[in-house]
Amino acid sequence: MSDKRVVVVGGGVAGASTTKLLEDFAKVTLVDPKEYFEVPFSLLRSIVEPEFGERTVFKHADYLKKAELVIASAKSATETEVVTTSGDRLPYDYLVIATGTTYEGPATRTERVKYFQTENKKIKSAKTVLIIGGGPVGVELAAEIVVDFPDKKVILVHSGERLLDFLGPKVSKKTLSWLKSKKVEVILNERIDINSLTESTTTYTTNTGRTITADTHFVAIGKKVGSAWIHESAFKSSLDSNGRLKVDTSLRVEGRNNVFAIGDIANTEEIKQGYLALKHAQLTAENIKKLIKNPDSKLSTYKPLATPMGAVSLGRTLGVAQLPFGTTIGRLAGMIKSKDLGVGKTRQGLGMKFA
Ligand SMILES: Cc1cc2nc3c(=O)[nH]c(=O)nc-3n(C[C@H](O)[C@H](O)[C@H](O)COP(=O)(O)OP(=O)(O)OC[C@H]3O[C@@H](n4cnc5c(N)ncnc54)[C@H](O)[C@@H]3O)c2cc1C
Repeated sequence: MSDKRVVVVGGGVAGASTTKLLEDFAKVTLVDPKEYFEVPFSLLRSIVEPEFGERTVFKHADYLKKAELVIASAKSATETEVVTTSGDRLPYDYLVIATGTTYEGPATRTERVKYFQTENKKIKSAKTVLIIGGGPVGVELAAEIVVDFPDKKVILVHSGERLLDFLGPKVSKKTLSWLKSKKVEVILNERIDINSLTESTTTYTTNTGRTITADTHFVAIGKKVGSAWIHESAFKSSLDSNGRLKVDTSLRVEGRNNVFAIGDIANTEEIKQGYLALKHAQLTAENIKKLIKNPDSKLSTYKPLATPMGAVSLGRTLGVAQLPFGTTIGRLAGMIKSKDLGVGKTRQGLGMKFA
């Protein structure tokens, strides 16, 4: 094993995979504010079925055998070290930045599983559920609820003119008609000020003055890019206007030889998806191995995905997908994603048992 030090910041899909792929080759340290990895695509199923959620969260210490763990957030970074909220200063030869989105949940696995149970009780005890946001989180949650709890009334409010706007209009149209067929009330082009909400709010007003009554609500609007700490770092001038790091064709932060930015934080010109974050991780691990062997190595390059592709689950068996040959809704799309939501495959990829 090389004595080169690799610091990976962020223990999501990109960071966890890079750490796993490199831990036998170098001294790797993973920095993450939570003690566990969570399969991000499965969150909504975990809320309707907390037992399912047990498989989707597992401690970093359970799949990492050699890497060192620092359970804290990165606060800043210089050209030679990362400083964390726990007061650690972590020197590096190679730095991998993978803080895709900010994390606001609990730090322990036990607390995270409790969170699934609490959210599940909210649904079970409500007659009417309001979902704010019509991206993948809002749509998947609405679908999970209507499939598992068909007696609940679901209202979905989305500020945009179409649902799932990270994919094309055909996906949006098909999804809207599927949700309507399940009696979901979808309100487009209206927004609810989430800052005015509390846990006990039951009357909601949209910006057009429409009043909605619901027993509970879920906020499903896009999470913030995890770049606040980068503003305090030596790389802040490489942030673009969306808070993403500008990278070269080898996913290195522009102008840097030993600093990589991967996953959702990288400003690659493509949609932000976990399967792409995984590709970034594989390429970066391979490139860091090459650099460790020979600092003058020619690095492999990354080709961003030209045409957006993605799948959104609609409950346990159905889905909607944009694929190279077109868009599809129903069982075929469901087979791609909806049964296990990628949990078994992600677990296996990190060296854990499928089930
Ligand atoms: C409901 C839903 C469904 C999805 N479905 C799919 C799908 O079917 N297929 C697909 O490919 N993609 C899907 N995605 C997208 C996918 O989840 C993301 O693209 C992927 O998680 C990005 O991985 P990442 O590692 O870049 O970022 P993240 O998964 O966001 O991980 C970021 C990590 O950084 C950590 N972090 C943040 N700030 C700091 C800091 N200052 N210091 C240290 N650590 C920090 C966080 O704790 C987290 O662990 C879905 C997303 C959602 C929300």
